Amino acid sequence: MSQTVLFLAHVDESGSALPRAAYEALGAALDVAKQLGRPLAIGLIGAQVESAANAVAAAGAQQILAVSGPDFASPRYATDAAAAEAICRAATPEIVIAPATSRFLRALPGLAHRLKGCVDTHLTSINVIEGKPTATRWFYRQRLEAVIQRGARPWILLLDSGCHPAWTGTPAPAEVQAITVPVPPEAKRTVVTGARAPKSDAQTIRPDAKLLFVAGAGWTKKQPDGKTHVPEAEALILEFLRGSGASLGGSKSLVDQSGESQAVLGFMTHLNQVGQTGSTPRHPKGLSTCCHGEEPHVVGWRFINERRAVNLDPNCGWARGKADVLYVADAFQVMAKLNELLGAGS
Ligand SMILES: Cc1cc2nc3c(=O)[nH]c(=O)nc-3n(C[C@H](O)[C@H](O)[C@H](O)COP(=O)(O)OP(=O)(O)OC[C@H]3O[C@@H](n4cnc5c(N)ncnc54)[C@H](O)[C@@H]3O)c2cc1C
Repeated sequence: MSQTVLFLAHVDESGSALPRAAYEALGAALDVAKQLGRPLAIGLIGAQVESAANAVAAAGAQQILAVSGPDFASPRYATDAAAAEAICRAATPEIVIAPATSRFLRALPGLAHRLKGCVDTHLTSINVIEGKPTATRWFYRQRLEAVIQRGARPWILLLDSGCHPAWTGTPAPAEVQAITVPVPPEAKRTVVTGARAPKSDAQTIRPDAKLLFVAGAGWTKKQPDGKTHVPEAEALILEFLRGSGASLGGSKSLVDQSGESQAVLGFMTHLNQVGQTGSTPRHPKGLSTCCHGEEPHVVGWRFINERRAVNLDPNCGWARGKADVLYVADAFQVMAKLNELLGAGS
């Protein structure tokens, strides 16, 4: 086994470019290779890899290996694992660093098994501590952080997106070493015929947004006038999302209402749920509205740097150290004013 650090990536749905998460994993791989004093190799998989190879040529890898062709266009365990295995057998790396995309999260644990190595997924950092590669990841819904070192090699490390600055460089002509991987018919039994995504999620979940806007069940509850105002709530929230470009999160109580035949916000699904049994999104800022701020919800805010909340109740959970700023106010009024300001600024 050589002492190489291998950066492994696949091209995105466009068929030729690398996903953003790949540039972040490349940044981490370069840092680790530099700190260990080891050479970097790059491995690429996809229908066409030429422009991806050119895009990372300036990273200064010792070699760029690629498995390409129509058989490697779509995410498919059998062909992805075979391609990754062929690249690893050629580069014989000690450490493999790859983006934790859904495609690789499915294929690379199998790669570790084939190489008799080890794999860790959903990593939030990869460093070198006292000369040893060291990774971190969260457990128990982001309550415990583990610091991991392993003796097994090769060690395959899948880095979550948004955790490392992306590598940037000017594209340059790359010299690519093509590897041919035979694909038997049984490896092609699974065929991707298309992708279907619920329209509402595609529009409202925006991982790259600067702001996470969270709506709680209060939006659908009776208001001081004794009535619910769901259509008004929908209009206010959608207008704010349009004007601010924020990503939309929801509390469990709100997203569960759709299954309980109660008044619901039509664009809110379980995929929007933030918290212990929901997601843990990463955004620089968060604004919670009509949500009580209970611990099982707030645990999902761990990676939101600056937290603000709007609630009528001065004793809500946000007031107890869970938010940086709590506005004790009516969210209907606050959001209407915010939309007015956003509209005036555009
Ligand atoms: C095992 C377990 C896992 C859980 N996982 C999750 C999870 O992943 N995510 C999650 O969210 N919850 C989770 N929960 C549920 C959590 O404990 C809460 O029940 C839930 O978050 C409450 O949602 P809410 O704050 O939107 O609703 P409510 O508790 O009903 O709060 C509504 C709030 O809206 C405010 N309000 C009403 N009208 C207005 C207005 N006009 N202006 C301003 N404020 C207003 C009210 O003052 C109130 O504070 C979990 C619970 C358990 C037991």
